[in-house]
Amino acid sequence: MIPGARLILLGRQGAGKGTQCVRLSRHYVVPHISTGDMLRAAVREGTELGVLAKQVMDAGGLVGDDIMIGIVRERLSRPDAVGRGYILDGFPRTVGQAEALDLITTQLPIDAVLDLDVPRDLVLQRISSRRVCRDCGTNYVADGHDKQPWICEVCGGDVTQRDDDTPEAVNRRLDLYEEQTSPLIAYYQRQDRLIVVDGVASPDVVFARLVEAVDGAKRG
Ligand code: AMP
Repeated sequence: MIPGARLILLGRQGAGKGTQCVRLSRHYVVPHISTGDMLRAAVREGTELGVLAKQVMDAGGLVGDDIMIGIVRERLSRPDAVGRGYILDGFPRTVGQAEALDLITTQLPIDAVLDLDVPRDLVLQRISSRRVCRDCGTNYVADGHDKQPWICEVCGGDVTQRDDDTPEAVNRRLDLYEEQTSPLIAYYQRQDRLIVVDGVASPDVVFARLVEAVDGAKRG
C-alpha cells in the first residue's frame, strides 16, 4: 500500500460512510474531511456559520452550495491535504458542489470516487441505532443494553444520539439524497469515474472492498 490518496466517498447518510472514512484515512494516512463534522464543530463553537448550520441541520436540510464550497476549498488548500491527499465525506452533495470540486482539483485530481451502496430501508434501520461521540465523532451502535451515560472508548467524550437523527429529519435527509445527491451518481458515471462498492456486509468486509477499489484506481 502506498500512502496518500485523494478520495470521495458517496452514499446515503447512515450507510456506514463515517466509520469507513475513519478507517480509510488511517490506512492511507490522509486527513478525513467530513463537512458534517466541520459544521457540527462550528455549531459547538457558536460561530455565525454554526448558528445558520444548526437550523438547517436540525431540519434535515442542506447548507447552501456557496458556503460549503468555500469551506472545502479552504480545507483542501492546507498543507496536509495538498501533500498527502484526503478522504472527502459528505461532500459533494449536489451537482453544483461536484462541478466546483472539479475546478478546485484540476491540478491534483481525485484518484477515486466511491459510492457506498446501501438500500434506503437498511439505512433507516441503522440510523435509528446510531450513536456518536460528541467530541471525536466515533460512531457506535446502540443495542438497547447500553450504559447511560455512555463514554467514548477513543477519547472519553459523551456518546449520544445526534440531534438530526430523529425519524422526521432522517426521512427528510433521505428524500433530499434522492433528489439532490443521487444525481451525482450519474454525474460521475458520465465521467467514467464512479466505483460502486456494495455496502451490505460486515464493516471489515466492506472496508476490504473499499481498499481493493482504491488500490485498483490508484494503479490506474
Ligand atoms: P453529515 O454528518 O454528513 O450527515 O451531515 C450533517 C448535515 O450537515 C447534513 O444533513 C446537512 O444539513 C449538512 N451538510 C453536511 N455536508 C453538507 C454539504 N456538502 N452540503 C450541504 N449541507 C451539508
